[in-house]
Amino acid sequence: MKNLVLDVNVLLDLWLQRVPEKVLFFIAELIAKGENKNYWTWVSSSSLSTLEYIARRELKKGGMEGEQAKQATHALIADLLANVRLLTQFGFQQVMALQLSNDVEDAQIVMAASNLQGSTAIVTNEKRFQTGGEVAQLSLLEVNTWLRQDENRSVEFIDLKTQQDAIRPQLEHNIHRVLAHGQYIMGPEVQELEEVLAGYVGVKHCIAASSGTDTLLIALMALGIGSGDEVITTPFTFIATGEMIALAGAKPVFVDIDPLTYNIDPNLIEAAISSRTKAIMPVSLYGQCADFDAINLIAEKYNLPVIEDGAQSFGARYKGRRSCGLSTIGSTSFFPSKPLGCYGDGGALFTNDDALAKAMREIRVHGQDRRYHHPRIGINGRMDTIQAAVLLAKMKVFEEEVTARARIGARYSEFLRDVAVTPYIAPENRSVYAQYTVQVENRDEVQQRLKEFGVPTAAHYPVPLHLQLAFSCFGSSDGSCPVSEAASNKVMSLPMHPFLTEETMSTVVRSWREAII
Ligand SMILES: *Cc1c(COP(=O)(O)O)cnc(C)c1O
Repeated sequence: MKNLVLDVNVLLDLWLQRVPEKVLFFIAELIAKGENKNYWTWVSSSSLSTLEYIARRELKKGGMEGEQAKQATHALIADLLANVRLLTQFGFQQVMALQLSNDVEDAQIVMAASNLQGSTAIVTNEKRFQTGGEVAQLSLLEVNTWLRQDENRSVEFIDLKTQQDAIRPQLEHNIHRVLAHGQYIMGPEVQELEEVLAGYVGVKHCIAASSGTDTLLIALMALGIGSGDEVITTPFTFIATGEMIALAGAKPVFVDIDPLTYNIDPNLIEAAISSRTKAIMPVSLYGQCADFDAINLIAEKYNLPVIEDGAQSFGARYKGRRSCGLSTIGSTSFFPSKPLGCYGDGGALFTNDDALAKAMREIRVHGQDRRYHHPRIGINGRMDTIQAAVLLAKMKVFEEEVTARARIGARYSEFLRDVAVTPYIAPENRSVYAQYTVQVENRDEVQQRLKEFGVPTAAHYPVPLHLQLAFSCFGSSDGSCPVSEAASNKVMSLPMHPFLTEETMSTVVRSWREAII
């Protein structure tokens, strides 16, 4: 996304109607909110006092009463702020501003503009800014041409920068609130986040924690799973799933996957249940939920709890219900690149079970039920308040992103239908496409060629868990999960994020067509 920062004089031209009608209309268009814009419009907060001062003075010169001019100016500013994004500059940048230019206010605008991540230009009717070349400056006549130019950026596997610009004002507000109150760990934002997330998923309890790995361990500990126990899971996942079962002291029992969805095959679960089985831990891989009705039915028959590893599926739906609210416990991760990511490590647990919720809350904080009283063994699984503050800002746009992800995933599949094995999304599922993953026979070669074309890719995952050296003590052998083994040789994830444009998708698909020849 591109960024236009409007200079004071452009806004004054509009407010005081100092330019021809055609130009007034053009400026008003730049400010107006719109659906299909490829840019965001910003005003530097440092411009507001100048705007107020000059607008009031000029309106009075034009014959308005003092009080009337004041109110008219405030109405103009309020209207402006309802439409544009307000850009801030940080304290340390004020010192730099003084060194950069002899006009402090101009330098502040340049400093503020350089905080943005996308291509940025200052729109001004007198090109007087000393930008050091980092930020462009445009006259109104040049704006359209600049907006039409390609944003000269390489294809990103996951674009967190555009998202950051999209939510910057809210993000800054939330983070600064934490700096102000100073409760850096498990502060008030953590509880606020838990309420927002529980409401979103539609369950009674949310327990925010330090990472998606820790939440899996906390869930297993809360269920009392340990030495001598077995937990049924999928081998086609990130290491953390099986690793936390082993760390809890239990044995991961790997059950092969469905070849279409890559999720655990419910038809194979029953045969893997033994007298030592204490839980089933399916993963909702690539953003698509496992078949929970089938899994829960088996679990009920054997009286087993089910933990969903929803680290990749937060926001996804299964038969209309949200991921993480589909079984005994739902667990997710807020690692930055996950569908809902923070700016560090984070995770959350979900349940409708009061006793389990209490146990998980205690385990999260060293097993304590009140300060320095520890009825059980726990871990340091607390969440940083700044991470909760970031997530609260992201939750305001999350559902829009979920919708965009579904649209982009479907669009990719239209593009690639005839040249790749595209993802199969079961009719009861709405995927959040944590990854957009296709299959190709000569994966390593294709990946190398795509890399040369500037298209980043990844293999999720090249070695299934039952063949990882770390799990060799559990005695799994080559050939025991043939579907996972075959998939691990062919899967490849393409760039995927909610801000992927039609143009970038075309670039990726064009490169793909060349790379597979
Ligand atoms: C990312 C991930 C995890 C671990 O989450 P962290 O927050 O990185 O600890 C666990 N399981 C799956 C399936 C994941 O993708």
